[in-house]
Amino acid sequence: MEKDIKTILAECGFSFKKQLGQNFITDKNLLSSIVSSSGVGENDTVVEIGSGAGTLTRALSERVKKVIAFEVDKSLQPVLAQTLAGCSNAEVIFRDFLKVNLKEFEKETGEYFVVANLPYYVTTPLIMKLIEESEKCKGLSVMVQEEVAERLCAKAGTAEYGAITAMIALRAECEITKRVPRTLFYPRPNVDSAVVKFTFSDRLEVSDKAVYKKVVHAAFLSRRKTLENNLVNAFKFTREQAREILTACGIDLKARGETLSPERFAALADYITKIQ
Ligand code: SAM
Repeated sequence: MEKDIKTILAECGFSFKKQLGQNFITDKNLLSSIVSSSGVGENDTVVEIGSGAGTLTRALSERVKKVIAFEVDKSLQPVLAQTLAGCSNAEVIFRDFLKVNLKEFEKETGEYFVVANLPYYVTTPLIMKLIEESEKCKGLSVMVQEEVAERLCAKAGTAEYGAITAMIALRAECEITKRVPRTLFYPRPNVDSAVVKFTFSDRLEVSDKAVYKKVVHAAFLSRRKTLENNLVNAFKFTREQAREILTACGIDLKARGETLSPERFAALADYITKIQ
């Protein structure tokens, strides 16, 4: 790619859509380090969500077997025609990835890694889609605003720990691999970002994932209330039943949901599944 990305965008008359989180990565070192830290290699298929101007798509295509990129904004087509010229292993699908039927998609694609740089309101539904529906996703590297990254990787008992953290634990381990200052994006956003790497494995054994999800959501229903109160509200248990369940699982009756590790949520969910 001979021309600078800013020149291509200007020549194509591209107008940035703030509502789609269009802050593009232009820094070559950053692109290279995102690809390296995602752990993808020359035999891998990578699904990129949100190709934007294609800078990350191109960096990925130089290091992996195949890149399938999704992008909702069709007006990026003329930009991508230039930035991805000569990248024969990269394909862009102009669709909202959140609406893709993952089962059908995985039948064709086989195993894959996901790499994405997304606005926060797409990140949580994307993570939940992969956690709940994917069977062939081996890993995810996602750039998000820094405070969201802290929440995704939070430990039990901290202020950042929430339902999303406990849901992630069902299928994946995650860690922050890189902090990225806002100055490395074009246009420059108002916040700094971080890259979170998820490694998929069936980390928690639970007999019914739907019950686990319900327990987790119940636990964080109201942070100021005890787990007992939240269980009574979410499951319609009597107070006595809720106390029996907590006692049987060795959980303090005064405990709040946010103090329980994912493993303890799993034990609680399994007990509830057994008695229901
Ligand atoms: N990957 C590029 C980069 O790093 O420079 C672009 C990142 S930009 C932060 C996010 C891109 O995702 C935008 O181009 C936006 O249009 C696209 N996008 C937002 N929601 C999407 C969705 N649900 N499916 C596919 N693309 C989406």
